[in-house]
Amino acid sequence: MVGALIVYKLAMPSYDYKCEFCQTQVELALPVDHEVPECAGCMGKLKRLWSAVPIHFKGDGWAGKS
Ligand SMILES: [Zn+2]
Repeated sequence: MVGALIVYKLAMPSYDYKCEFCQTQVELALPVDHEVPECAGCMGKLKRLWSAVPIHFKGDGWAGKS
């Protein structure tokens, strides 16, 4: 069970969501077809932010250095 959970989390990309009301920005790892959660602060509607840049993989050690 633990191993399966780890694989599940690793395979899950995270996205940035922003509340349309209080502008709170959160990062959540949810399946693409998952129902969009509500804002934890005001229970408002969260809107996914589509990032053009893979912000989670910047820094040394990743592909690109030869
Ligand atoms: Zn909110």
